[in-house]
Amino acid sequence: MTQMNQQIVLAQRPQGAVTAACFRLEEKATPSPRDGQVLVKHHFMSLDPYMRGRMDDTKSYAASQVLDAVMGGGTVGEIVESKLDGYAAGDLVVGMGGWQQYSVAKAGEFRKVTNQIALSAYLGTVGMPGVTAWYGLNKICAPKAGETVVVTAASGAVGTVVGQLAKAAGARAVGIAGGPAKCAYVVNELGFDACIDYKAEGWKDALKAAAPNGIDCVFENVGGEIFDFILSRMNAFGRIAVCGLISGYNGEPYGMTNIRSLLVNRLKVEGFIVSEHMEIWPQALGELGMGVATGKIKYRESVAQGLASAPAAFMGLLKGENFGKQVVKLI
Ligand code: NDP
Repeated sequence: MTQMNQQIVLAQRPQGAVTAACFRLEEKATPSPRDGQVLVKHHFMSLDPYMRGRMDDTKSYAASQVLDAVMGGGTVGEIVESKLDGYAAGDLVVGMGGWQQYSVAKAGEFRKVTNQIALSAYLGTVGMPGVTAWYGLNKICAPKAGETVVVTAASGAVGTVVGQLAKAAGARAVGIAGGPAKCAYVVNELGFDACIDYKAEGWKDALKAAAPNGIDCVFENVGGEIFDFILSRMNAFGRIAVCGLISGYNGEPYGMTNIRSLLVNRLKVEGFIVSEHMEIWPQALGELGMGVATGKIKYRESVAQGLASAPAAFMGLLKGENFGKQVVKLI
């Protein structure tokens, strides 16, 4: 009997917010690997904010998601058939298999991992989001002991790692997140010094109080009003790693009013795309993997069950309904 492969394709591009109509669930025969390829059965797939940008066909740093093609994305799973030297059925691998149950891949399109940590962690803290945190914090912010680091979307896949690395560097870590539960987690479980609930009344005063000596480093994941206010609290020669601007991913414009801070504080502002810095991935993954294996770096996940749940989970991610790294469990 033919083994079937469920897939989710981009059915239409969003006009503003993503809706269920943007996706279509299909079923195709599972492909067979050709010489030099492996067939991977996905255990988990990753849902990430960058996928929203790729659903549009506007100019960006990466090509748009092709209409009617399988949604792209990170996956972790096991090789079930190999026609590639050095790889065998049962090997665990991380790759870009997309929103589907199986994918074929060739050498260079995936990397082997071990089961010494939970497989899903390779999509979060010990994967692309963790490396993103590592790069932006170490290479752009480079906090010194005693400095204050602010990170937005602090309870998410990237933000959780940023704050823990900032603490390890001896800095004061201040998170900004949506809601009391996320803030409590960031402080009580992850060890941030403070967390500001930006949905609560008086959050601007709370941020001022949490960073009494001003802000030296910003790891910016959100943009919009929050980023604008942060700018007004910067110290001279502060650094800003512009990682993401999720509050505007549906196209909402937001006028920045505190740009003057860039000049008067002589700020360094640097946007970055983690996939353009492959040279640091081995070191970052090594350190993050060790941190997770030894329990020094903690993480949390929102796990959606089954491929069909991916669109709703993705729409939730863009509204802050996830709590920690959003993954989809496929088996
Ligand atoms: P998260 O796990 O943090 O999930 C997204 C979070 O963003 C939500 O939980 C929510 O948290 C917050 N959010 C969503 N909508 C809004 C909004 N309108 N206003 C404020 N906050 C909002 O995602 P990641 O950690 O994976 O990604 C964080 C950021 O990093 C994103 O901007 C992403 O695009 C960026 N990124 C950039 C990379 C790069 O190479 N430059 C690589 C990877 C990620 P809350 O409830 O706290 O508001």
